[in-house]
Amino acid sequence: MYRKKDYEIAFVGLTIGNHTYEYKLGKSFFEVYKASQFFDSNITVTLTLQKNAGFLQLKFEVGGTVAATCDRCGNDVQVQLWDEFNMIVKLVENPQQMNETEEDADIYYLARTESHLFVADWLYEFVALSLPHQIYCENLPDGQSGCNQEVLEKLQALRLESEDEPSVNPIWKALEKLKDKK
Ligand SMILES: [Zn+2]
Repeated sequence: MYRKKDYEIAFVGLTIGNHTYEYKLGKSFFEVYKASQFFDSNITVTLTLQKNAGFLQLKFEVGGTVAATCDRCGNDVQVQLWDEFNMIVKLVENPQQMNETEEDADIYYLARTESHLFVADWLYEFVALSLPHQIYCENLPDGQSGCNQEVLEKLQALRLESEDEPSVNPIWKALEKLKDKK
């Protein structure tokens, strides 16, 4: 769990110009989002908020590492993250309607009467977008795969075994058993 308050920016009281925030995101932050792509994290997101009259310009810089499982062999892998995302928050009269019709994912509308901006969901989303689609062990210095070869061989053997087994429709199997009883 996290305290919602820790991820709210009271932007109304800010002066026009740049303001910087730093968010350290560990395991407990991602548990709230039930993130399953990694099991531990050491991430810092630096958020630069530029306040302008009528809109806010946000830049999220994601950096750090996550501990994940290799998709090929199941070994633990440290994955380096580095990415940057921009958002524009516009202050308008009818934010709900505007958000529903806005096609640009980088633009978000907030009511003019609003005083706080909640950023936790974006922090999560941008970390998730920084992750590679597939996570593999790093190659060894000689260029060979760094994956656990023993595990890969066992997996390969299992795969071959299951290919040998003829696929039998369970209904035929059941009928076969009935026949045997006669
Ligand atoms: Zn691996």
